[in-house]
Amino acid sequence: MKKKREKYLNIMIIPDSTQQIKSFKISIPLIKTVAIVTFSIIVAATTSLVYFGKTTAYLYTIIAEKDEKIAQLTFIKEEQDKKIATLNKNAQLVNEKIKGLNELEEKVRRMVGLSTSNPSRGGISREVRSEGDISYDSETTSELVSEIDQKTQDLQDLISKVAARLDYLESIPSSYPVYGTITSPFGTRKNPFGYSYEFHPGIDISVPIGTPVKAAGKGVVTYAGWLAGYGKVVIIDHGYGIESVYGHNSQILVKVGQSVKRGDIIAKSGNTGRSTGPHVHFEVRVNGNPVNPTKYLAKGN
Ligand SMILES: [Zn+2]
Repeated sequence: MKKKREKYLNIMIIPDSTQQIKSFKISIPLIKTVAIVTFSIIVAATTSLVYFGKTTAYLYTIIAEKDEKIAQLTFIKEEQDKKIATLNKNAQLVNEKIKGLNELEEKVRRMVGLSTSNPSRGGISREVRSEGDISYDSETTSELVSEIDQKTQDLQDLISKVAARLDYLESIPSSYPVYGTITSPFGTRKNPFGYSYEFHPGIDISVPIGTPVKAAGKGVVTYAGWLAGYGKVVIIDHGYGIESVYGHNSQILVKVGQSVKRGDIIAKSGNTGRSTGPHVHFEVRVNGNPVNPTKYLAKGN
């Protein structure tokens, strides 16, 4: 059996001549092993260092990106906070405007003598929240939208009612046909032609013959001619069951079916019919029954 011979490296140290030569024997496989191990350690250490360096750099990059992202988000949040503050302010402003509209609506209603609308409404803060406590959110937005929708409906209703009210106000006989002394009031009076008492269905206004007689309100002429007692008379239908009568004229200036506005001249005053002197007999009838004209005259002018 042949034994494998181990290889050695002989190292000789030759000092000066006074000393002996020293020689070492190192196993070559051992040298190889040590070299391999040393090389492996160096490679591993270098690799680790490079890897660690790269990882650190990568982490720094990530951190920098995150910092940038945080800065961006902080900026966005600040901008959004500003926008929300603006929206809150706007929501309050819109609510104030709605309340302003309600006040205007009430004012218009009072001006034309219409009853006030639902007094519980007037912006969302009155019932739902306290003043200045309106914040912008979807609930507030939908409340404001529904308030505005309701307000729009209210105002459309109001327009119709105001139009109707204005027509009524234009129509009623609220303006004096002539200005002069009232020589005989409405109601029971002493018969100017005798000693008995009689019912006077209108008022007598004393004016010189030829004074322009004006329509007391808007309407349509339903009679223009002679009537026993009234002389030359004009009757105007104002609608709403109301008529006005202008008697004792010297001249009639309108025709049956003619539309007139308040203040239009319809006749010249006179002394025709059952009259004791130049005057206008002014009569107002509601559903055919004479009423005191001053009730309507008081409403106008
Ligand atoms: Zn009279």
